[in-house]
Amino acid sequence: MIIKRAKYAGFCFGVDKAVKTAFDLNYDGNVYTLGELIHNRQVIDALEQKGIKVLESIDQLKEGDCVIIRAHGIGKGTYEALNSRKVKVIDATCPYVKRIHEIVKAQNEDGCRIVIVGDPTHPEIIGINGWCEGKALIISDESEVEQLPYSDEKAVTVAQTTYKRAKYEEICELLKKKFAFVIKFDTICNATVQRQTEAAELSRNVEVMIVIGGKNSSNTQKLYEICKENCSRTYLIENADELPLFDKNVKTVGITAGASTPEAVIKEVIFHMEDMMHGHEGEIDFSKALEMTFNELKTNEVVQGKIIGYNNNDVFVDLGYKADGLIPMEEFLDDPEFDPEKDLKPGKEIEALIVKINDGEGNVLLSKKKVDSIRGYELAEEAYKNGTPIEAVIKEIVKGGAVADFKGVRIFIPASQLSDRFVKDLTPYQGKKVKLVITEMANRRRVVGSCRTLIEQEKAEKSETFWNEVEVGKEYTGVVKSLTKFGVFVDLGGVDGLIHISELSWKKIDDPSKVLNVGDTVTVRVTGIDKEKKKISLGYRKAEDNPWYNIENKFKVGDVVTGTVLRMVPFGVFVELEEGVEGLVHISQISNVRIGRPDEVLTIGQQVEMKIMDINPELKKISLSIKEVKPIDPVKEDEPAAEAAEEELPTEHTEEMSNTIGDILNEKN
Ligand code: SF4
Repeated sequence: MIIKRAKYAGFCFGVDKAVKTAFDLNYDGNVYTLGELIHNRQVIDALEQKGIKVLESIDQLKEGDCVIIRAHGIGKGTYEALNSRKVKVIDATCPYVKRIHEIVKAQNEDGCRIVIVGDPTHPEIIGINGWCEGKALIISDESEVEQLPYSDEKAVTVAQTTYKRAKYEEICELLKKKFAFVIKFDTICNATVQRQTEAAELSRNVEVMIVIGGKNSSNTQKLYEICKENCSRTYLIENADELPLFDKNVKTVGITAGASTPEAVIKEVIFHMEDMMHGHEGEIDFSKALEMTFNELKTNEVVQGKIIGYNNNDVFVDLGYKADGLIPMEEFLDDPEFDPEKDLKPGKEIEALIVKINDGEGNVLLSKKKVDSIRGYELAEEAYKNGTPIEAVIKEIVKGGAVADFKGVRIFIPASQLSDRFVKDLTPYQGKKVKLVITEMANRRRVVGSCRTLIEQEKAEKSETFWNEVEVGKEYTGVVKSLTKFGVFVDLGGVDGLIHISELSWKKIDDPSKVLNVGDTVTVRVTGIDKEKKKISLGYRKAEDNPWYNIENKFKVGDVVTGTVLRMVPFGVFVELEEGVEGLVHISQISNVRIGRPDEVLTIGQQVEMKIMDINPELKKISLSIKEVKPIDPVKEDEPAAEAAEEELPTEHTEEMSNTIGDILNEKN
């Protein structure tokens, strides 16, 4: 028997895109699909396992939930309702369906009568009608056109993307007799046309035709109708379990599948048919072979069973056979997330490969690992074909790189592809879960992967987002990457920024390592952006840490305070009131008698009591007086020198002096 598989069978572009969108989605919150994403139970179950549930009504949504719009699309009103609920909308509407929405919207606004040819209950049609205020005339077959009265309106026709082309043409011809003017838009999807044309051709040239797909999928139903017209022995099945029994004289079987049928289901059907043929070619007809699978087991066959129980050495499986199956427990132990309570629950279905029909003790020896490896290889092939990232665990460090395990498939990662930086010692990678893309897949023994491609891709994406969103004043959390004499480089997640040494602390520091070290996590503020040169300046010190911040709340004019003499200048002394806050005692405010120099009565480090005479937070200036509290008179008098000094020095806190003081303070800060 020859099996002929249609080239255009299975997921179409739109469905594939929607399914990938859903499986790739990482959302921190509830995720729903508005109706079933596709008409396939296995995919819906897999999505449910990922936490993506099917939404019956948008009334169930709460603010912050996420909803995926399936390939069929929705009407304008539904978008508005979703937006008003403040939910995140992931729009996976097929671009071909979107095009129909645009046509219908524009033509309706132009005052045309919209005619949609298709099934009025199909979500795609309901969605399209939602773009012309629900006013479209929906025609599902020729008889409905015949009953229409004549109208002098201008009609614009669009068809359901999966509608049969020949039928659409006929309906449009009839519509021309019912409307004064008809404009026909060809909206039947090419994927559908290709699939239907090929299925028609194939079904003409085989004895039995199998159409795989959901019974409630309209495109599958149409495929079935087309094939049935050409081949009376056409069967519509959802999966391999529904394969019909053929007689032994059947020589050719054709297979096609609807747009919602996953590749795995098609393969499973073909696998079942091939398996029967090869096992008994020339001896037994297909129907008998099919029956045999229910009664007999064969070595190397993949079987489905139910877990009965387990002990330390084996897991027992009911195969519906006279003997039970055994899977060695060690096959489960490689999985770090293995939980016997959950994974080996009695009644749970399990797939395994028959290693031996009789292990010597009357049990069927099974292997789960081998099935995982077969399935893993299929998944790896798919990931390679689509460039989809996968997660694998590094099992071995070998010469020139590492070997990662992905569902039983060994993937070699060259050392240069483990990271986007040079890694000298690969041992820390042992046992780690890494994300990678498969870059080469010649056969099962030569699968090569790269983490670096993904890391660089993610960094580039993050960098683009960063540069689009960055603003002066925005805060980021980053990690200190390196220290230099003039500052600290911080990795903000794909983009590096510089904290200049002066922005590290309010105190004057000469070494950035006094504040930060490589690896520290820091919160920084953007102080400057140069998008052309891709440079970011950052601030680290906080306004509230500035000792002058809210100085008026700490010190008031008239307060008597104690401080330490820090420096002396000819016109007075600088006294530290607290770390980072200094004030000036003018020479005239030290003593009641004239003194020539401050060091005649004071020494560096001396504690003095003073009265606050003035505070200027903007200039960071505090004027103090010792003599207002307790004047300090010189022990030895040196009148001529004091007089001379008095003539040369200003007696008041002048503007010029403020500048000098400001300069000194700025230099200090
Ligand atoms: S059948 Fe065509 S229009 Fe419909 S989802 Fe698939 S690609 Fe899009």
